[in-house]
Amino acid sequence: MERWQQQLEALEQAQMRRALRCVDGPQSAEVTLEGAQVLLLCSNNYLGLADHPALIEAACDATRRYGVGSGASRLVSGSMTLHHRFEERIAAFKGTESALLFNSGFAANSGILPALLEEGDVIFSDGLNHASIIDGCRLGAARTVVYPHNDVAALEALMEEEAKKRRGRWLIVSDGVFSMDGDVAPLAELVRLKERFEALLMVDDAHGTGVLGATGRGSAELCGCLDQVDLHMGTLGKGLGGAGAYLAAPQVVIDTLINRCRPFIFSTSLPPAVAAAAIAALDIVASDEGARLRAQLQENRARFVAPLQAAGLDLAGSVTQIVPILTGEPKPTMQAAARLLTDGIFLSGIRPPTVAPGRCRLRATVMATHDPKRLEWAAQLIVAALQGEGA
Ligand SMILES: *Cc1c(COP(=O)(O)O)cnc(C)c1O
Repeated sequence: MERWQQQLEALEQAQMRRALRCVDGPQSAEVTLEGAQVLLLCSNNYLGLADHPALIEAACDATRRYGVGSGASRLVSGSMTLHHRFEERIAAFKGTESALLFNSGFAANSGILPALLEEGDVIFSDGLNHASIIDGCRLGAARTVVYPHNDVAALEALMEEEAKKRRGRWLIVSDGVFSMDGDVAPLAELVRLKERFEALLMVDDAHGTGVLGATGRGSAELCGCLDQVDLHMGTLGKGLGGAGAYLAAPQVVIDTLINRCRPFIFSTSLPPAVAAAAIAALDIVASDEGARLRAQLQENRARFVAPLQAAGLDLAGSVTQIVPILTGEPKPTMQAAARLLTDGIFLSGIRPPTVAPGRCRLRATVMATHDPKRLEWAAQLIVAALQGEGA
């Protein structure tokens, strides 16, 4: 116990200790945070679906008809009608032969990579990929080659080098939208490389699904290469407002995962209500309302970003609803976040190990349900907190 206490104190000293904060009520634009009314600027509920009446109704209806729990893992008795129905829907949405539902994005990535790739295979992984991809690489027997973030030329050089001693299968894996930088992977270029080197391409579209592309099919649609991505991974807990994750892929990949992917095999499947909510979310994404929500999200992002850019703040190349504002070291980052909270703005200060040392940031996430005027107000206060008195 003493050792843990000392470690926590060391984190505290370095302004690196993390703690939980309790949000009262749903993930709306304005929430109550430990008694105070604040603007919510750090939720991934981008389209406002987490508390959308249609999802709530679908989840309640499914609960009344199918019960709360799924009772077992998918391979035992827990493979229920709504799980299958969701998988058909997401496969059609992404244009793949088949799909598989996972309990979370973390479970998906940490299970898919070790299940699909073996000794002698190579995974080429972007340097800023999500922690769950990093763990997936670590857990498997394939070798991992990390390439510098979004650097296609560097990746190509690494692949040329590796090609000389190639034995097994190759997989390029990248976030579609990078969760801490809000930039988009150069997917069309990654497609070119995967074709040149006969590799597979896996895209983790946790932040793009439902949100990016003309019809919300995600970052690959935005980049014009939806049909060329081999393995479409995405999550249901962000833009789609629920929980869980999916892989949309060829049937042989899905069948392999059903037989080999440990987090899929050894975990109780999601409650039927969660699958029902995900289906309702896909209905909205495909509707006129979905198109309106995506347009509003873009509009809100523009309104929020304009004052930050005018003040010359470094937004780390963000082109999406994820807007990092670089601050450098932990101390000024956490001070700015604390000051903004007293002003009524709830966003997160991001420190190592989530980002590299010296790359601390305030990370704001814009939602379609925000009031644009409140976003402009928040942006002005962020500028003041970083550049004004006492900064
Ligand atoms: C959030 C996230 C995950 C994890 O998904 P969960 O469903 O929250 O476990 C995986 N990959 C990326 C890029 C993410 O942003």
